Amino acid sequence: MSETPSPHTPEAPRTPEGLPAPVGPRIIDGQRIARSIETEVQARVGKLREKNRIPHLVAIQVGQNPATDVYCRRQKERFAKLGIEYTHWRLPEPAAMEALEDKVDALNEDPSVTGIILTMPLCPGIQAFKLQERICADKDVEGVNPCNLGRLIYNRQAVGPCTALAVLTAIESTGVPIEGKHLVMVGHSDIVGKPVGLYLLQQMATITTCHIATRNLKELTLHADILVVAVGKPGIITRDMVREGVIVIDVGINPVPGPPARIVGDVDFDAVAPVASWITPVPGGVGPITVAMLARNTLVCAQKIFGET
Ligand code: NAP
Repeated sequence: MSETPSPHTPEAPRTPEGLPAPVGPRIIDGQRIARSIETEVQARVGKLREKNRIPHLVAIQVGQNPATDVYCRRQKERFAKLGIEYTHWRLPEPAAMEALEDKVDALNEDPSVTGIILTMPLCPGIQAFKLQERICADKDVEGVNPCNLGRLIYNRQAVGPCTALAVLTAIESTGVPIEGKHLVMVGHSDIVGKPVGLYLLQQMATITTCHIATRNLKELTLHADILVVAVGKPGIITRDMVREGVIVIDVGINPVPGPPARIVGDVDFDAVAPVASWITPVPGGVGPITVAMLARNTLVCAQKIFGET
């Protein structure tokens, strides 16, 4: 693998060999990386718009949910800045599976729609995975359709799960070569743990994946060159579980009631950061990059639909 840093690599101090200099922990700035991705997306969307080709994402929501409403409103504002049209389609609760399937079918057929997203949570009785399967692969901006996940195995994917792509981007932003490194992935969910393992395997890392049945978590995490944690349990990774120089990517988002209310990750950041070579903060790490990846996936889907690839 090449040692060329990704375009998102910050100006980090380096040894004469080109490796990161061993000075304290460096924080992976997810906001900065996200801005850089979005600037690129905006420019490419602009080129499509010059040809009157407008990327158009439709978000499907079921019922009223204040948190989801805010999320969709922010997403709409953000995408508007990038030149992406965003329609928020809401079905009142209780929603029938059939009505949602009909809506997905209609959006799949609609040539003015280039991307479809399911806003979670849907509602009881609705099987999200059946709808994810139904969204046509070319409009699957979340990269969760079985067809897109299957392409990941063959390294032929156009879009992938946004959070897994965000993790990969965060790691690449350090400029540290992935080849030959040992990734310890804690968590094996379909949208984070499993695809992260596949992405890094493609880059010739050695992968260990841990889950609820893993008996010796600390023994394994102590061997990590790159430790990615996506569990949803604050403080599951403590100082004694990591070795010096490890790259730590914390995917966890855990609300801690206040006052003041705040969000923390899965890693004991204050204790682990001083020994890590690079680490993502929470908030401000993987989260913003994930949002930017959704924008990039939306662009990629639109380009494919417009025959621009
Ligand atoms: P998930 O589907 O609940 O998966 C959690 C994983 O952690 C499961 O694979 C689970 O294993 C494993 N696990 C649970 N307890 C464990 C333990 N003691 N030791 C080792 N593994 C354990 O969650 P997810 O969707 O992957 O999300 C994980 C976290 O990331 C959550 O906090 C979520 O909010 C956050 N997240 C953040 C972003 C972002 O953009 N930053 C995006 C998505 C998710 P089993 O399945 O075997 O129980």
